[in-house]
Amino acid sequence: MLVLGAGAAGLMAATFAARAGADVVLLEKTRRVGTKIVISGGGRCNVLPSVADERVFVTDSSRRLMGRILASWPLDAQRHFFEDDLGIPLSIETETGKLFPVSNRATDVRDGLVNAATAAGVALRTGADVTGLAPSAAGWTATLGDGAAVEAHAAVVATGGLSVPKTGSDGFGLRLARALGHRVKPTYPALAPLTAEPAPHADLAGVSVPDAQVRVPVGKGAFETAGGFLFTHRGYSGPAVLNVSHLTALGRGRGDVPAVLVGWTDATAQAWEAALAEPGRGLVTTTLRAALPARLADRLLADADVPPDRARADLRRDERRRLVDALTATPLPWTGDEGYKKAEVTGGGVGLGEVDPRTLESRHHPGLYFAGEVLDAFGPIGGHNFLWAWATGRLAGLGAAGP
Ligand SMILES: Cc1cc2nc3c(=O)[nH]c(=O)nc-3n(C[C@H](O)[C@H](O)[C@H](O)COP(=O)(O)OP(=O)(O)OC[C@H]3O[C@@H](n4cnc5c(N)ncnc54)[C@H](O)[C@@H]3O)c2cc1C
Repeated sequence: MLVLGAGAAGLMAATFAARAGADVVLLEKTRRVGTKIVISGGGRCNVLPSVADERVFVTDSSRRLMGRILASWPLDAQRHFFEDDLGIPLSIETETGKLFPVSNRATDVRDGLVNAATAAGVALRTGADVTGLAPSAAGWTATLGDGAAVEAHAAVVATGGLSVPKTGSDGFGLRLARALGHRVKPTYPALAPLTAEPAPHADLAGVSVPDAQVRVPVGKGAFETAGGFLFTHRGYSGPAVLNVSHLTALGRGRGDVPAVLVGWTDATAQAWEAALAEPGRGLVTTTLRAALPARLADRLLADADVPPDRARADLRRDERRRLVDALTATPLPWTGDEGYKKAEVTGGGVGLGEVDPRTLESRHHPGLYFAGEVLDAFGPIGGHNFLWAWATGRLAGLGAAGP
């Protein structure tokens, strides 16, 4: 069988198919393998989350189908695979609850997967750019950029989405799925830094806070996320920002500009009210600077129209109200995002209703399977996207290998 794409999902698919007895050829367009694994998690690879929660995943397809697919390889079993099968011990980063290799080297994860694939007998061909895949007498025939053809009874498409195209994923699998008659949910960049044009906070570029609370009102409720926040020259980044960028992207698609509200610490409005009402002649700015980077504290003070030399005891009621609002719910001016060039994943993709959730085989074409980011689901920062890639890769590999 053929596996198209030697990323996270393709490596997993190839290994499980070969271990199940299939003859596997793994075709990778670039000269490298698993490039996204290597750059993931800042070069440390956040292999998995420490808690599995299917509710945090986003899909435009049926959530029931998504849950079924995720349940095919539970988190504990995935962790066991990395630690006991590949011999890559993982540890939980206490502040974030993410699982990283103890070595903190993403290359260990990539190399472990490649070794497992080759040990299982997978024939890995790099520099093999698949330009076409079509049903044929043998089952499926892949055409390569140099004109060569490779045949097999089954093919797993694990070519990724559209995010960070310089790693090799340029949307080939999405185009192929459409051309073969599958419904592909509209795609958009997800987990992408936001931009603001003009950038009113450009002077704060480089300033970060570890525990921002970001809220986007949605319908009668709100989508809330917490984590690191970073001011950039062009806008905003950090996990808490990336985790809401699908909502701003989807909003923009509808011609809407959803509000993004930021609390700069985990303190509530009441806690800030109390801190600002503490007795003594201390300055308001001192209270803010104790909890925030000085440049951000000063900026919030200015935005709330509070003089920098205001003593806490002299803070007027209207000043306190504006300041507490700024500290807990600053409306972030944003106009767009950094797009696929910087997005960590692609939202949308091959609809989950287009595949059999037991095997990920196409409902239109026997012998054709989809795995990884090309499918319509993604999760927040924290190892959820590899969890999806590992689970779908294994499922498609086992499905394509047959009973
Ligand atoms: C900077 C960055 C950091 C990230 N960090 C994390 C993290 O720490 N934890 C986490 O869970 N997720 C992380 N992600 C997301 C995660 O990397 C992806 O969700 C995951 O790699 C998707 O796996 P995939 O195999 O579906 O696709 P990809 O990893 O994109 O692999 C697709 C492969 O297919 C190949 N290919 C494409 N077209 C063809 C073709 N026509 N012929 C042959 N081969 C082809 C590509 O070259 C590529 O090797 C990060 C993403 C980015 C961009």
